[in-house]
Amino acid sequence: MKKINGTLKILVALILGIIFGLILNKLVPTNVNNELIKWGLAPLGNMFLRAIKMVVIPLVLCSLIVGTASIGDIKKLGRIGGKTILFYMTTTAFAVTVALFLGNILKPGAGFEGQAIINGASTVEAAKAPFIMDIFTNIIPTNPIEALVKGDMLQIIFFAILFGVAATLVGEKAKPVVEFFDNVNSVLLKIIDLIMKAAPIGVFALISQVIISQGTSILLSLFKYVAVVVVGLFIHTFVIYGGALKTFTRLSPIVFFKKFWSVMLLAFSTSSSNATIPVNIETCNQKLGVSEKISSFTIPLGATINMDGTAIMQGVAVMFIAQVFGIDLTFHQQLMVILTATLASIGTAGVPSAGVVMLTMVLQQVGLPMEGVALVLSVDRIVDMFRTTTNITGDAICTAIIAKSEDDLDTNVYYSNDDNDDEDLIVA
Ligand code: ASP
Repeated sequence: MKKINGTLKILVALILGIIFGLILNKLVPTNVNNELIKWGLAPLGNMFLRAIKMVVIPLVLCSLIVGTASIGDIKKLGRIGGKTILFYMTTTAFAVTVALFLGNILKPGAGFEGQAIINGASTVEAAKAPFIMDIFTNIIPTNPIEALVKGDMLQIIFFAILFGVAATLVGEKAKPVVEFFDNVNSVLLKIIDLIMKAAPIGVFALISQVIISQGTSILLSLFKYVAVVVVGLFIHTFVIYGGALKTFTRLSPIVFFKKFWSVMLLAFSTSSSNATIPVNIETCNQKLGVSEKISSFTIPLGATINMDGTAIMQGVAVMFIAQVFGIDLTFHQQLMVILTATLASIGTAGVPSAGVVMLTMVLQQVGLPMEGVALVLSVDRIVDMFRTTTNITGDAICTAIIAKSEDDLDTNVYYSNDDNDDEDLIVA
């Protein structure tokens, strides 16, 4: 009997999808590829994506209500919230700084010959920065059902926390309600397990269609930009996050990444932080030993406001565009980039391509030409896969750190070798 790990199957599917995509991109005419995507790959990929998204909203609501109610202590809740937001903001500002540093020394835009692309695209419009007070006001939903229907994550988080706190205050009478949500939560997690059985097929379909339609030629022309972003993401994910985990918790980062890479693969193939929320929460609970009261709060919040990967892309993109257009950014302007990219990444939704829209805001802030966005847009689908992976890793690292600091992380589970929950398959 041989065990095939579920995560390994996803990795194999990812690699096969890339190879399949490359072969089709090179050897098969575009119209045939388009038909294949239309009739086969797109429906398959979308079915998988829709299925995991289907669970996100009810799961966030239920697990957050249960999580908050089980904390039972308002002070502790405030402390966890404060620490989480502080961690998310600080790491993001740090991420942009790393990106600017890399952009300054590696100069991805020096000697770039992309005038044709720039000339062909002069109609990019800047995203408007929202009025800061509106952001805070709008966290409170006027109708929680509407918030659920629209999938407004911050409003749902607000309502669920309030509900959980109130349930704690009501006490005995509210217990059946909390229990109900707890039971629904278990069912939703089971649904996710079932859906994840189809992950290899979904991942294959999602990746191969990106590679078929993107190819490698555009990637080569912007190779330096993509390479600097990926180097930045790599440093941030493994060195900074790994280092933070070790420093703050003394836990082994290697164990973390060994247990977490299935979530990273899912983020890579879906390019959506939101879509990974259920699997991320489940992995934090079952494999990393984090109690649900922490992860049910930190993961959905992180998927919504913590986007270090996006911030790195924005930092490198700003330097790249400035260099292509021969504009020198002053120290003061670079400080502005750190500030606006941090805010822009908070405002970025956890869905594919959202980060590049927010990039326009950062460019406008420092007076760089909007046409630059057209340049980075051509490779953004690929870059998005990498940055989303960093985005969600940051959420889980923060979760582990906060949980450890609150004594809500079971180190026995963290260091256990038990991979039963990894939907292992037994084959002869
Ligand atoms: N796709 C990213 C995410 O979901 C957001 C972005 O476009 O940067 O995390």
